[in-house]
Amino acid sequence: MTRYGMVIDVDRCTGCFNCFLACRDEHAGNDHRPVSAAQPAGHSWIKVQELERGSFPKVKVSYVPVPCLQCTDAPCMRAATGGAMARRADGIVIIDPDKAIGQRDIVSACPYGAVFWNDVENLPQKCTFCAHLLDDGWTEPRCVEACPVQALVFGDLEDPTSDVARLIAQKPVEALAPVPAEPPPVRYLGLPTRFVAGEIVLGDGSEECAEGVSVSLRKGQQTFTISTDNYGDFEFLGLEADTEYVLSIEHAGYERFELHWNSSADPNIGTIVIERAG
Ligand code: SF4
Ligand code: SF4
Repeated sequence: MTRYGMVIDVDRCTGCFNCFLACRDEHAGNDHRPVSAAQPAGHSWIKVQELERGSFPKVKVSYVPVPCLQCTDAPCMRAATGGAMARRADGIVIIDPDKAIGQRDIVSACPYGAVFWNDVENLPQKCTFCAHLLDDGWTEPRCVEACPVQALVFGDLEDPTSDVARLIAQKPVEALAPVPAEPPPVRYLGLPTRFVAGEIVLGDGSEECAEGVSVSLRKGQQTFTISTDNYGDFEFLGLEADTEYVLSIEHAGYERFELHWNSSADPNIGTIVIERAG
């Protein structure tokens, strides 16, 4: 039995919005009942969120495409009444365009903002994985076909030879926050994590970039150590959110530097001047 799923590789996504436009092209003004009514002008059922972290000049920008995740235990389905929502045998969650009229609670029940309100039809609407195309023999939705960098990988989760099943078996895929108890069929690679960055300068009057200085990051009993590059820059990626960290800098002939902080944000520590010992 087929069960559709998708892996979204955030590291690959360039934020080109081709998926967003392909969704509009497929659905705007096109009625695909029984799986979806026509999408109104200006809507798209896949969002591409731009997330900026850090501060100048240590800034990172990520693009996170968010379609309906076709949740395994779907809060939107619990909010629907009168048989307005159902899950197909292939796992796709469908809003019935005739039975869901007036049911705004379906929009607010989705924790991912994946349900959109059609003011003209008085109807909640969302991504269907282009179920009407899959039923016609297509192997992937329009957004997946439109992605120029294969950031969206789609297929049958029950087929161990499919690209999507292989990715999930081989890579550390994650669920989008808020993380549900049961993994959804749409999962992610490379979701943005906290980072810390800075640069080190020698405080001996030369103000030279301190290349090859040992910088350590400690969390509990774990310590990670790297060396600054030839611009004196350092960067630690993949930090856990809201966690206590200690950054320490050691360089022969110079005073030890130590900084304690909580990773509730992505701090750019800026320029750290290390002073000569003694
Ligand atoms: S992502 Fe939102 S709309 Fe889609 S199944 Fe989950 S709760 Fe429902
Ligand atoms: S088409 Fe692909 S690269 Fe472009 S925004 Fe969508 S997922 Fe990202």
